[in-house]
Amino acid sequence: MEKPFAAVRDLERLEVLRRTALLDSPSEGAFDRLTSLATRVLRCPVALVSLVDQERQYFKSCIGLPEPWASQRETPLTHSFCQHVVASAQPLIIEDAREHPLVAENLAIPDLDVIAYVGIPLITSDGHTLGSFCVIDHVPRAWDREEVEILTDLAASVMTEIEMRVANAENSRLLRQAREAMHARNEFLSSISHDLKNPLAGIKGTAQVLRRRAARMGSADAETIADGLARIDAAATKMSHQISELLDLTFLQVGEPLELDQRPTDLVVLARGVVDEYQSTTETHRIELQTTTPELTGVWDSGRLERVLTNLLSNAIKYSPDGGNIAVNVSRHQDGRTGWAVLEVVDEGLGIPATDLDRIFERFHRAGNVAGRIGGTGIGLASARQVVEQHGGAITVASQEGVGSRFTIRLPLNT
Ligand code: ADP
Repeated sequence: MEKPFAAVRDLERLEVLRRTALLDSPSEGAFDRLTSLATRVLRCPVALVSLVDQERQYFKSCIGLPEPWASQRETPLTHSFCQHVVASAQPLIIEDAREHPLVAENLAIPDLDVIAYVGIPLITSDGHTLGSFCVIDHVPRAWDREEVEILTDLAASVMTEIEMRVANAENSRLLRQAREAMHARNEFLSSISHDLKNPLAGIKGTAQVLRRRAARMGSADAETIADGLARIDAAATKMSHQISELLDLTFLQVGEPLELDQRPTDLVVLARGVVDEYQSTTETHRIELQTTTPELTGVWDSGRLERVLTNLLSNAIKYSPDGGNIAVNVSRHQDGRTGWAVLEVVDEGLGIPATDLDRIFERFHRAGNVAGRIGGTGIGLASARQVVEQHGGAITVASQEGVGSRFTIRLPLNT
């Protein structure tokens, strides 16, 4: 008896068994149908899905057991033939238990009236024997080969059922774990981005104060200083926007919507602010704001829209290395009953190769004519699309290499 118990008590096996979550779980049709089929096909009174635990065997399914075992759905190992199936990981076929050296003393004979027995090991794909799928008769019986084969097939179905459950449970566990990790990462990124943006706000504020002072001084030197400060201010804004974009993109990555801070926003005022700020940072480009309406108010997240426009403008400047005109157009369009705000940024720069046009709104995608030559991260347009789409709008591009690009944003006015 030493050997069987060592295998039965193997800690790894017991852990695998515990992870199936089948011990002490209620009976289920999927298993009961298989035991019931076994009793009918083999014409025997009892069939069990017996899971052999450390000190007991637990019946995930039992058909035909006498009371009190039928209600208890378990017996101690003193009443278990199935433990021998687990110990050997081989089928156990017994014609008359009273004469079988392995089980002649087993209490299942007097207490459960087990005389004839066939047990097929329930083995996981990684080789752990969880228990036995068995049939029992109360009279001596010579089991034929076909009967054993049928039981072997049914035992395989039991194992498929068990492994499917384990895989599902494991998937749910991994999903939960991934969600938790994602959540922790988002929290971390939020706090890091907050810490990074704080000093940038200080840099911006100081640059603005000094710029105003320099403007009051009125000398040529002061003008140069004011220009430099304007660039510092714009660079700090850009960095701060990039940090926010990265943060937003982490939400996109996990499929979570952004928490938009929507309030009445005049797109004309917003565009003028961004254009003015950018005009002061470039001498090589002329940025012109063209509007067909004095005001264009919708309920939008102004901070994020400002970031989107800043991005399009800084791209227009960056990808027009020879300078040139840049137009920012704001207009209102009516489409049936829906009013749309339309914002365009048009440049005369490098343009985008036709082969890249479909992909430039994807994260990290950079067109072949600029990648490796002009610095960039490839997240600005992906972030822009995320923001615009979450407002119920759309962003599109028309571009020709060597001629220029036109980015168009349409936002529903929901009025
Ligand atoms: P980045 O500019 O940091 O590379 P973006 O997401 O803003 O990232 O842009 C993605 C790509 O789209 C750019 O790398 C560039 O190839 C192309 N692109 C964007 N705007 C323009 C533009 N105005 N002119 C030419 N190419 C552009």
